[in-house]
Order: sequence, then C-alpha cells, then structure tokens
Amino acid sequence: MSKIILTGDRPTGKLHIGHYVGSLRRRVELQNSGEYDKIFIMIADAQALTDNADNPDKIRENIIEVALDYLSCGLDPAKSNLFIQSMVPELTELCFYYMNLVTEARLKRNPTVKTEIQMRGFGESIPVGFLTYPISQAADITAFKATTVPVGEDQLPMIEQCREIVRKFNFTYGDTLVEPEALIPQNQVCCRLPGTDGKAKMSKSLGNCIYLSDSEEVVRNKVMSMFTDPNHLKITDPGSLEGNAVFTYLDAFCKDEHFERYCPDYANLDEMKAHYQRGGLGDVKVKKFLNAIMQEELAPIRARRAQLEQQIPEIYEILKKGCEVARAEAAKTLDEVKAAMRINYFDDEELIRAQAEKFAKKDN
Ligand code: ATP
Ligand code: MG
Repeated sequence: MSKIILTGDRPTGKLHIGHYVGSLRRRVELQNSGEYDKIFIMIADAQALTDNADNPDKIRENIIEVALDYLSCGLDPAKSNLFIQSMVPELTELCFYYMNLVTEARLKRNPTVKTEIQMRGFGESIPVGFLTYPISQAADITAFKATTVPVGEDQLPMIEQCREIVRKFNFTYGDTLVEPEALIPQNQVCCRLPGTDGKAKMSKSLGNCIYLSDSEEVVRNKVMSMFTDPNHLKITDPGSLEGNAVFTYLDAFCKDEHFERYCPDYANLDEMKAHYQRGGLGDVKVKKFLNAIMQEELAPIRARRAQLEQQIPEIYEILKKGCEVARAEAAKTLDEVKAAMRINYFDDEELIRAQAEKFAKKDN
C-alpha cells in the first residue's frame, strides 16, 4: 500500500514554535526521508472559518503567511503538495456524506472540541460548522487516502474520530476508505508545547506564542519575559522545573552541543537542571541560554522567509498548482465513495436498464 501523508494548519495566524516542534519540523524530515509516495499539506481555511465566520479577511490574509512559514521551514513544493482546503470542493461533499455516520453525542464527547468550545466561550451557541469540524477533517484525510497524519497531541481525538468514520463507512458500504495513523512527536514535550505564559498550550487563540517569523529582538524579549517558577525569587533559592516553561522549551530544543557553544559551565541539560533545583542558578542565565538556542534555530528560517517575501505571486502560483493536483486526487476518492454508496446514478447503466424494464412492465 502507498504511504501517504496529509496534514495541515488553520490560517488563523502565522505559525509558531508549537507548530514547529509539534508537526512542522517532522513533516520536513518525513518529506526529505523519501519514504512517502505522496505528501499533501493543507491550509485549512474552511475549517478556520468555522470559528471565524465573521472575519473572513483574517483567514484570507493569513493564507500567504502560513505558506511563507511552510516554505521557509523547508517544505518543498517539488516533494510536498501545498494546497488550500476551500479550493477542493470535493472535500465538502465527502464531509456531507460522512455526517450521516456520526452522532451529535459523539461529536460533543470529543475532548479537543470540548476544550476548544470552552476556550472560545461559545456556551450553548456552538456554530454547527465548528461542532462538525472533526467530520470535515475526516473528509480531508480520507480524500487523499492518507495513511499517516503528523500532528500535535491535541489532534489525537480527531484522528480517532476519523478512524471510526472510516470503519463505519467501509462496514456499511464496502471497503473504500483507508484508516489513517496519527504520528505524534517522539519527544513528549513537543506533543503540546506550552505558551510563553506557562499555559498548557501555545496557541494563536491564546496570544502566548513565539512566531517563526518574529524578529531577533521580539524573540529575545519574549524569551526574557517568559514564565518560570514564581517562587524562585532569589538566585540562591531552589527552583522548580514543574510547569517551568523555559525548561520545557529547553527540553524541546536543546542539544548537548549547545552547551559547548553557549553555556560551557554545564555538559548537558541534566546538569543545568540539577543546579537550578539546588539553587544558585538564576532565571536570566537560563533564559539567555534558551534565547541563543532559539536564535540559532530560527535565524535560517527567518532568512529564507525574507527571500520568499519577495516572491509572493510565485507562491500563489505554487498554491494554485497544488490545489489542482489535490482536486484531481480528491475527485477520484469522491467517485469511489459515491459508487460505494450507490449514488452514482448516471454512471450506472445497470440501474437505468433495470428501471426502464420495471416501468415497461408496469405499462403492460
Ligand atoms: P488555533 O488557535 O487557530 O486553533 P493553533 O495554534 O491551535 O491555532 P492549529 O492550526 O489548530 O494551531 O494546529 C496546527 C497543528 O499544529 C496541529 O497538528 C496541532 O496539533 C499542532 N500544534 C498546535 N499548537 C501546538 C502546540 N502548542 N504544541 C504542539 N503542537 C501544536
Ligand atoms: Mg488549534
């Protein structure tokens, strides 16, 4: 069986380092591994509209931002097909049929949807489109017969829901769709990177992000004002690592070689952590170290972005081509889905003949 990747992001803002460690960095590695037959990377504008219906301009503006982030991180249009969700109407059509295979109760049980409903303060006024976005995501994944979906941990309930839809569809209408696997980061801290404020998840909606496109100065300011251990007041105080975002980011980004370059007092992160916990290591020193690492990681991305920003029409052209390829692929699956559901009336000569015979008999 072919190995196919589908994944994507909502164009609700620029991408941040949570996206980077949670999914984007891995996508680039998978792309360059040569192990995948097809790779589809989707800018999920239709999904973003489910909770931004009153602000389509925000989505419109951010499509190019996300595309710039993708390309500057190393996604290569020669190897990965970049496309925009709404430009592939077959996805909407698939979603409509899958809706019959999912109950309202099941949607409301989805833990990620639950948290997001709370976060957005919808109360009882949940837009139907928002509630059903896991179904739309199942359409996106299955339209490309994706086997692998590299995502952050928050997406696991979506993949589970998609797998249920696939099983229900195949059971009801015969084997047609492929059950995907989620691929979450091997490094636990990368599954859900916290915000600079120490909140559980870095998220555009929470405004606690370090963006891939932030300038050197902005990154430094954000790092230097990050949440650490509120009880670590004097340098000599013992510090706690629990919920300490600076150390979580070090867990996500730091390698031993960084100590040689930027902080030779320690051989590795364990030594630094031990000193912090004992007392005698100040937050400023740790933050300066983290800043050096972040700058090293982000500088090449920033430089590529600056170049790409001079090629906007070409990038729209890349997306347009990507949409054409994605559309052709999704159309094939939609045809198969409709045939399996027996709603392909005009392609079914047998049906037309049988109906003709039935009515001919009636006349006699
Ligand atoms: P929004 O607030 O609009 O939902 P978001 O910041 O949650 O934005 P998404 O576009 O929903 O970002 O997520 C895109 C991908 O990035 C998903 O695979 C998601 O799991 C991953 N991701 C997002 N935030 C993080 C994070 N803080 N840590 C790890 N992965 C993340
Ligand atoms: Mg999200």
